Amino acid sequence: MSTHNHHHHDHDHDYGHGHDHDHDNRYSDMQARVKALETVLTEKGLIDPMAIDAIVDTYETKIGPRNGARVVAKAWSDPDFAAWLRTDATAAIASLGYTGRQGEHMRAVFNTPDTHNLVVCTLCSCYPWAVLGLPPVWYKAPAYRSRAVIDPRGVLAEFGLILPETKKIRVWDSTAELRYLVIPERPEGTEGLGEEALADLVSRDAMIGTAIAGPRP
Ligand code: FE
Repeated sequence: MSTHNHHHHDHDHDYGHGHDHDHDNRYSDMQARVKALETVLTEKGLIDPMAIDAIVDTYETKIGPRNGARVVAKAWSDPDFAAWLRTDATAAIASLGYTGRQGEHMRAVFNTPDTHNLVVCTLCSCYPWAVLGLPPVWYKAPAYRSRAVIDPRGVLAEFGLILPETKKIRVWDSTAELRYLVIPERPEGTEGLGEEALADLVSRDAMIGTAIAGPRP
């Protein structure tokens, strides 16, 4: 049983340190170390900060979320895996080699023709990093965290996702112990595609719920 829960975490936030910190404290440490190292190396003229930004972007938008995209592609391709994902997402995801560092549980929420799912962490920035990599800056921003709950349809519109009024939106609030992966609807016309090609259709944002699956623009 982890004592590292939201309640405890919330207290940390009340003392007004200006930085955006995460439950994965080792991760924040790591970020600080990377930043310090980057500064030293840049001052010595050994690296180009633009190159570092490009590497971070790669982890944030490509390498990390590729794990989740493989989970989604397998769920689309293999009904038994999809059923397992519904009943025990932690185990189903771990079977592909993607596991959390602190034993947090995963839940997969499936989009349907009637319901769209959206993930947020209202208190801080809990994120299913084992399947999605680094959280985007907007996910940690107070505006997203508060407005995703109050006005999810409006927030989605700002992401360019206009859903029909008839479609329900369910918002899932992550915690340190339970994190969510959205399984988007499989796009039409993809019947012949293999799992790797299907995974190409699944963006990070589609697995947070701020986009749907489909060819990248
Ligand atoms: Fe959180």
